[in-house]
Amino acid sequence: MPYLIAVGVVVFFIVLLITFWYITVPLVIIALLVWLTPKLVRRIRKRRYFASATFAAHKAEIAALTAEHNEIAQYVAEIRERGSFEIGAAGTGRHAHLATFENTSAHNYKRDRNVASYAAENVHNCSLQVVRNAAGNPIKYVSKYFDIKANEETLADVEALGKSIASLESAVSNLQTRESQIVGMVNPPAFIMKYYAAEFMEQVGVELSPVVVPYPEYRFEYVSAGGNSSQRATVKMDTETIDAMVEYLAGSIKFRKSAAGQRALMTAKLRHFIRSRDEWTCLNCAASVRVEPNLLLEVDHIRPVSRGGLTQVENLQTLCWRCNRAKSNKIVAA
Ligand SMILES: [Zn+2]
Repeated sequence: MPYLIAVGVVVFFIVLLITFWYITVPLVIIALLVWLTPKLVRRIRKRRYFASATFAAHKAEIAALTAEHNEIAQYVAEIRERGSFEIGAAGTGRHAHLATFENTSAHNYKRDRNVASYAAENVHNCSLQVVRNAAGNPIKYVSKYFDIKANEETLADVEALGKSIASLESAVSNLQTRESQIVGMVNPPAFIMKYYAAEFMEQVGVELSPVVVPYPEYRFEYVSAGGNSSQRATVKMDTETIDAMVEYLAGSIKFRKSAAGQRALMTAKLRHFIRSRDEWTCLNCAASVRVEPNLLLEVDHIRPVSRGGLTQVENLQTLCWRCNRAKSNKIVAA
């Protein structure tokens, strides 16, 4: 019955529109014009701006800045490719992809939304109690249930993850600083940045790179037997969490004699210490933030971890991204 009423109302209005076409048609045309004209005017103004001599002059002025931005964008892609962004694995889901799960009951289709995600990566399906405990004590529970063992090898892996995440984070934020600097120097009319920000970057010659940092996430999930309720705790492995994990693992490792006492933990704190010890200057080419305020500085293992180098204050140095990139390209090629 409600359907019939709705259809009746729609038909009535269509008949009304057709009967009084000499009013409705001009109204529609006016509405279209009001809607379209500002857009057209904006497009014309935009084209004029990008074709203007002022814009061309600004673009030429910042060419070196743009080129360096694009090189760092390339470097970001390399970090993404070579870095390590995973660690550990969920015990329960490891072989779940070998089975298919179906809910074959006819009437409770709604419950599917709460089906435990066994096939997903880094998900641990567990009791409600474990979900709650994990939310309260994430570091301990992630290492316990995702098999992140307290040994030197795993510690090195977690530190490598932290290094990748941190260098990607600082490279991405460096790019963003440079992008806003570029916008500031060209100083386009407000409507350009409001409506055509992406096209502006393209016209200036800036290659945009994805700004998302692929933080690994660990999930503890409880789904009731009937599927009617579910709760989850999610742990995002950002720099802060990784540092806490590094400290937690180090606290329960029995180090070999050679490494004990002289090993430092690769955390944000240590990276900051090394940079300030080296006075925010690249130890290879002497580039410094005093001359280049936006210089991207990284902390490097002088003897690489892959060749037995340890995380020790004496084995760490500050390098600018250019020198660090050249060094890691050499190591990858060797
Ligand atoms: Zn350098």
